[in-house]
Amino acid sequence: MKQVTISQLDTIVKRNEVCLLDMTHLTIQFVKRLVNHSPGNIATKQGNKRLPLEMWWEILAWAEMTDPNHHTYRLVQALSLEEHGTQRILACAKIPKWNPCGLLETEEACNKYRACLKRPGKGQNPNRPFVLPDTNNQDSLIKIKDSLTGRDSKILFRALSVSDVISRAEKGECFLCASDRWCFLPRDYEDDGFFGFALPRGITGSAIPCPLCIDVHIPESMDELESVEYEQATRQAFYKLGYTFHYPG
Ligand SMILES: [Zn+2]
Ligand SMILES: [Zn+2]
Repeated sequence: MKQVTISQLDTIVKRNEVCLLDMTHLTIQFVKRLVNHSPGNIATKQGNKRLPLEMWWEILAWAEMTDPNHHTYRLVQALSLEEHGTQRILACAKIPKWNPCGLLETEEACNKYRACLKRPGKGQNPNRPFVLPDTNNQDSLIKIKDSLTGRDSKILFRALSVSDVISRAEKGECFLCASDRWCFLPRDYEDDGFFGFALPRGITGSAIPCPLCIDVHIPESMDELESVEYEQATRQAFYKLGYTFHYPG
């Protein structure tokens, strides 16, 4: 998952890429804009009572300190870019329904899902694992000013993996590891396989980072699994997905 930058707006619109939108952050930015540019609009209908600006700034400062891992994220599809003078506005719409990524059983299904998020294609397609938004419904559009996709504004994210979707849009619910983030391999996995995930031999009796919800490559050997480098990569993957690292068990 990568932050969408201004220079990528054209690309995501051309592909109609599915992205993750931090709704909490977007709301904070919206209020901030109102407070800074038209504070007169935030007043009571009767008596035109207003909060002092200092108080608004304090409230916003608190809101901005909230942990992004606890924000609300939505899957949205990038639809169009509108030019308004020097400003461009990205129109997105929520993905109304999708097959949970946390239920995927094979590596192939994960790869297909990821490819489809990047390039969903147009029209009806029974193989697409999610429903495209109804673009005729103007009310469902979410408009984002391009200035909000600047370097430090972590609002919109592209290049999604199924792990990103599980973490941000599905509350971390993963069937493969029962949301533990580690999978203990059964004794007979070398013969019977482990769902549709290709695993190296010789890891019996150990746990590996969940191949579905943790974005770290599957270790090639017991030696790699036990290496310092692999632990570092696993910690990094937990961190990026917003999970607190813990050892198996
Ligand atoms: Zn945020
Ligand atoms: Zn998992």
